[in-house]
Amino acid sequence: MSKNLTKRSEDYSKWYNELVVKADLAENSGVRGCMVIKPYGYAIWEKMQAALDAMFKETGHENAYFPLFIPKSYLSKEASHVEGFAKECAVVTHYRLKMAEDGSGIIVDPDAKLEEELIVRPTSETIIWDTYRRWIQSYRDLPILINQWANVVRWEMRTRLFLRTSEFLWQEGHTAHATEKEAVAEAEQMMNIYAEFAENHMAVPVIKGLKTETERFAGAIETYCIEALMQDGKALQAGTSHFLGQNFAKAFDVKFTSKEGKQELVWATSWGVSTRLMGALVMTHSDDKGLVLPPKLAPIQVVIVPIYKGDEQLDAISERIAPLLKELRAKGVSVKYDNRDTYKPGFKFAEYELKGVPIRLAIGQRDMDNGTFEVARRDTLEKETVQADEIVAKIEFLLEDIQKNIFQKASDYRENHITEANNYEEFKDILKNKGGFISAHWDGTPETEERIKNETKATIRCIPIDVKLEDGVCILTGKPSKNRVLFAKAY
Ligand code: AMP
Repeated sequence: MSKNLTKRSEDYSKWYNELVVKADLAENSGVRGCMVIKPYGYAIWEKMQAALDAMFKETGHENAYFPLFIPKSYLSKEASHVEGFAKECAVVTHYRLKMAEDGSGIIVDPDAKLEEELIVRPTSETIIWDTYRRWIQSYRDLPILINQWANVVRWEMRTRLFLRTSEFLWQEGHTAHATEKEAVAEAEQMMNIYAEFAENHMAVPVIKGLKTETERFAGAIETYCIEALMQDGKALQAGTSHFLGQNFAKAFDVKFTSKEGKQELVWATSWGVSTRLMGALVMTHSDDKGLVLPPKLAPIQVVIVPIYKGDEQLDAISERIAPLLKELRAKGVSVKYDNRDTYKPGFKFAEYELKGVPIRLAIGQRDMDNGTFEVARRDTLEKETVQADEIVAKIEFLLEDIQKNIFQKASDYRENHITEANNYEEFKDILKNKGGFISAHWDGTPETEERIKNETKATIRCIPIDVKLEDGVCILTGKPSKNRVLFAKAY
C-alpha cells in the first residue's frame, strides 16, 4: 500500500479519508455508514475517554448503563424529541429468523413479530427519564448526576469516518435537578468541561456558544455547544450540552416533593461528545505527511528507531537504551522501541510520521560513539542532536512544547478566520474566498437563517457566550439586530 497521501491543497476531503485509513485509525465496514475503529484509533479514543471520564468524576458524576433498545411508546412521549429523531431511527420489529420453506435461505419469521417495536437508541433521554421516575421521590433524591459510555445509532444519509457515522460511540450525561438554576448551571458547567478538554487535551481551540432555535437539540430549551474550525475553513460542532427544562419530567411524570412539601417537576440536562472528536483531532492538526497528535492523546509519545548494521550493533544499541526506556516509562511517558528487523529505518520514519508520533529518537553508530541521539519533533519536523544525559529533560520539554505549539498554531489559524461581514455581498465573498467563521448581524428569525442556509450553505454555528451587544442590521433583511452571530459552512 502506498503511504503517499493526497495533498490537502489538492483535495482536503480525499486527504482526510485517506489519512484516517492509512494511519490505521478506522475503515469502512460491510455495514453502510458504520466504521471499524482500528487498534491505533481506538487507543486515541481510550485516552480521550480516560481524560473526560476523570473530569466528569471530579465534578461529581457517576457512570451507569441503560438499555440499547427503547420501546417506541417511550420515544413518542416527548413530542419535539420524537419529531427530531424520527427520521433517523433504526427499528427492531422481529425477534427471530427461520429457514424459508422453499429453501431460499434464512428469512425473518413472520410469526416472531414484536408486540411493540423497539428503537435502537439514537440518544437515551426517554429510557433514562422512565427510570428516573422510579428513582426520584423527594428533594433528598436530587441531584442525580449520571453519565453513560455507549454506542448510539442515527440513520445518517451522508456519512464520513468519525465525523458522521450511523453508529457512533459517545458518552451521554443525564442529570436531574430540583431547580432550574441548578440545571442551567450544570449545562453550562459541562460545556465548559468540554471546552477545557478540547483545548487542553486535544489542543483544539473552540468557541463556546448557544445554538439557535433551528439548530437546538430536539426537546431542549437551550443547547450550549463548542464549535471548532477545521484547516479547510469549515466548522465542526464538537460537543453539545442541553438544558432540557422540565420537558422530559412532564413527559415521564417525574415529580419530587420539595422541602416545602409541594409536588414539583424535576429539571433536566443532557450532554454528549462522540467519536466525531477523532475527526476534529485529525482535521485540526495533521499535515501532508500524516497525523500530528497532541502528546496528551498520543498512544505512542516517543518512538526510538535504531540504525544499525548486524546483530552486534543492534544489541549494543538495545543495551544503551534499556535504562532510558525504563526511566521514561517510570515517568509515565509512553515510549516504543522499534527494533523490528523486517523494516528499514527510512520506512519506520515515514510510518511514525504518518501516525503522528510526537517525538522520534534515532540512534546509530555515530550517536553511540558520541553519546548522543537524533531527536525529531513531528509538529515542526525539526531535528537536532541531543546529548544522552540531557535526553529525558529534552523529551519532557518537547512533550509540553509540542502540545502548546500545535494549540497556538490552531488558535492563530482560527483567529485569522473569524471575519466580520457587514452586508450580504461581503458575507458571500468571504464564504467563497476565505471560509472560516463569519461574524454578522442576523434578525433572529428562523426564516432568515433558513434562507441564508439555502442560498449559501452557511449555517449559524452559535451565538458566542461572550457576545458583545452592538446595534446593527441583519445582513439579509436589514432588520435591526442587537448582536452578531457566527456563521460558517460546517461538517
Ligand atoms: P446531540 O445528541 O445531537 O447533541 O449530539 C451529541 C454529540 O454527538 C455532538 O457532539 C455531536 O457532534 C455528536 N454527533 C451527532 N451525530 C453524530 C454522528 N452521526 N456521528 C458522530 N457524532 C455525532
